[in-house]
Amino acid sequence: MAIEKTLTLLEGEIALVTGATRGIGKSIADEFAQAGATVIGTATTKEGAESISNRLSNLNLNGHGIVLDVANSEQISKEVGNLKETDLMPSILVNNAGISLDNLLMRIKKDEWEKVIATNLSSAFYLSKAVIGSMLKNRHGRIINIGSVQGSTGAPGHSHYSAAKAGLIGLTKSLAQEVGSRNITVNTISPGYVSTDMTKQIDDKMNQALLETIPLKRFGKPIDIAKTALYLASSLGSYITGETINVNGGMNML
Ligand code: NDP
Repeated sequence: MAIEKTLTLLEGEIALVTGATRGIGKSIADEFAQAGATVIGTATTKEGAESISNRLSNLNLNGHGIVLDVANSEQISKEVGNLKETDLMPSILVNNAGISLDNLLMRIKKDEWEKVIATNLSSAFYLSKAVIGSMLKNRHGRIINIGSVQGSTGAPGHSHYSAAKAGLIGLTKSLAQEVGSRNITVNTISPGYVSTDMTKQIDDKMNQALLETIPLKRFGKPIDIAKTALYLASSLGSYITGETINVNGGMNML
C-alpha cells in the first residue's frame, strides 16, 4: 500500500538535519524519521537538543538531538567527528538552519553581515565538506540546502540574507557537478513565505500584500517543504541534481 511504501522510503538512511527544533527543520526531521531514517537533529541549546530527542522518542522514531552552532566551523568538525565515532555518519544532509535579520545595507555592520553569511551559507560549505568523504566512499548521498525565494528576487533589508541564499544555489550547482558520478545528489529547495517563527513578526498589512503575490492564496506550511525534501532525499528524486526547486505557491513564477 502507498502508505507503507512512504513509511520505508528512507529505511536505512541516516539524516543530519540542522535547525530541527522548530519550523521547517522540525517538519523535515519528523517526516524523514517517519519515512524510516535515523535522524540527528541539531539545536543551538541543550534544551533544544533534548526536545528533539524527546519528540522522536515519543513518536517511537529513531534519532536524537545534538547541540551545534552551524556558524562555528570548529563545532561542526567536532560534532561530525562524534557522529563518525558512533557510526552515525549521515547519508543525507539537510542544511536548513538559518537566520534572517532585517536591515538596510547602509546600516549593516561587519558583524551582522558575517553572522548572516556564516549561519546561512558558510555552514552549508563546512557541513558538506565534513560529510562528503563518507558519502563518496559509500557512493551514495543526498545534500539538500534550504534556500529562499529571496535568493532569486532579493528583498529590501535583506541584502545579506539574499546574498547568502543566492550563494547556496552556486554552491549546490558546483558540488552537484563534483560528486554526481558517485551517486550523490545536491539540490536547493527555495521556499516562499512559510508560517514559522521566522515570519511571525510580519504585520497584517504586509501579510495581506504578500498573499496577493501568491497564486495559491496561502502561505506555505513547513510540511510543504518537508514533503519536497523527502522526495529529493529518497529514491523518488534520484535523477534530480544541481536543481533549485521553488516551493512557493507560485510566487515569482518565471
Ligand atoms: P525558524 O526561525 O522557525 O527556525 C530556525 C531554526 O534554525 C531553529 O531550529 C534554530 O535553532 C536554527 N538555528 C538558527 N541559528 C542557528 C545556528 N547558528 N546554529 C544552528 N541552528 C541555528 O526558521 P524557519 O523554519 O522559518 O526557516 C528554516 C530555513 O528555511 C532557514 O534557512 C530559512 O532561511 C529558510 N526559509 C524560511 C522561510 C520562511 O518563510 N519561514 C522562507 C524561505 C526560506 P534554535 O531553535 O536552537 O534557535
